[in-house]
Amino acid sequence: MSSASEQTIIDLTALLNRYAHEYYDLDAPTVPDAEYDRLFRELQALEEQYPQWRQPDSPSMRVGGRAQQKFTAVVHQIPMLSLNNAFSPLDDNNQFDHSEMHAFDKRVRDGLGAEPEYIVEPKFDGLAISLLYRDGLLVQASTRGDGYTGEDVTANARTIVNVPLRLHGDNMPDILEVRGEVLMLKADFERLNAHQQAENQKTFANPRNAAAGSLRQLDPKITARRRLHFYAYGIARLDEHFVADSHSEELALLARWGLTVPPQNTLCYQADIKKVLAFYEHIYQIRADLPFGIDGVVIKVDNLAQQEQLGYVARAPRFAIAQKFPAEEMLTTVEAIDVQV
Ligand code: NAD
Repeated sequence: MSSASEQTIIDLTALLNRYAHEYYDLDAPTVPDAEYDRLFRELQALEEQYPQWRQPDSPSMRVGGRAQQKFTAVVHQIPMLSLNNAFSPLDDNNQFDHSEMHAFDKRVRDGLGAEPEYIVEPKFDGLAISLLYRDGLLVQASTRGDGYTGEDVTANARTIVNVPLRLHGDNMPDILEVRGEVLMLKADFERLNAHQQAENQKTFANPRNAAAGSLRQLDPKITARRRLHFYAYGIARLDEHFVADSHSEELALLARWGLTVPPQNTLCYQADIKKVLAFYEHIYQIRADLPFGIDGVVIKVDNLAQQEQLGYVARAPRFAIAQKFPAEEMLTTVEAIDVQV
């Protein structure tokens, strides 16, 4: 019995690593995200039960893919990690089952010994990049890669329509490293695929793949033509004299410097778990009307000292979680294939 589980762990690890390679390195997934997520969780559950059989290359211990050699490597001074996921499946009466989110909230409250205030943001369905500003000027942009080493995509990022090449205002930081998501708006994605089709070129499975494929081009002119957008959702490095006590204050600072942050109608501040869940259900209802694709929401403890207190585990922070939309809503146009493990 136990050796069957060991074999399943080995097989799932290999299969998920293949899917991750197709998704992150080739920008060409062969299974829907929901299928990847299902198998990932199956592996996580088995690894929890049989930690002795966790494989050294398990995707549960790693972030993303590998930086491609066609780009110069950038070592991240602050790692770009992933997020743990929570799912709220719909029951037979079309009601959300939020038990995983309540468990997250309990872990946070136990960890802090206090009631946290959460901030809820959209979970943008694009790819993470890091933008480095020195004396207000954009000097480097890099992809997440494996979380520790990413790809230098500075020339391409300069072509993103709403990335300021120079920060706005006159109170400039010496150094600012911004984290956020590059994505393609739904309208630009439709236009791109129509154009590709007209030119007998390959079409893209979804806006996320189109964004990833467009950013990681050797010719920045191609990136420019594809019209990408950037949404900032965090600060990795900033001069000490710019005091921000909370994530929401960080977003306000970024907006002041001309960076696009999540729009107000997709943000929820000062939320307890009840407000978080109500907001998730609201966003779930309006998701189709948003100009960009989202695959859920991200819930973060707002207070930065509390974030630090909770810290990180393996590949993700303990102070945040991605609450993903139910699986049937996430199917992309990628054809599902039979998965044998
Ligand atoms: P993730 O996408 O689940 O979460 C982490 C990422 O969320 C961050 O790196 C960041 O890019 C993004 N993000 C978006 N909005 C954010 C916000 N407001 N604040 C902070 N971060 C935000 O994690 P991941 O490790 O990049 O990828 C795992 C996911 O990728 C899987 O859940 C799966 O859906 C998909 N995937 C699919 C395949 C496939 O074959 N279809 C393969 C690998 C991964």
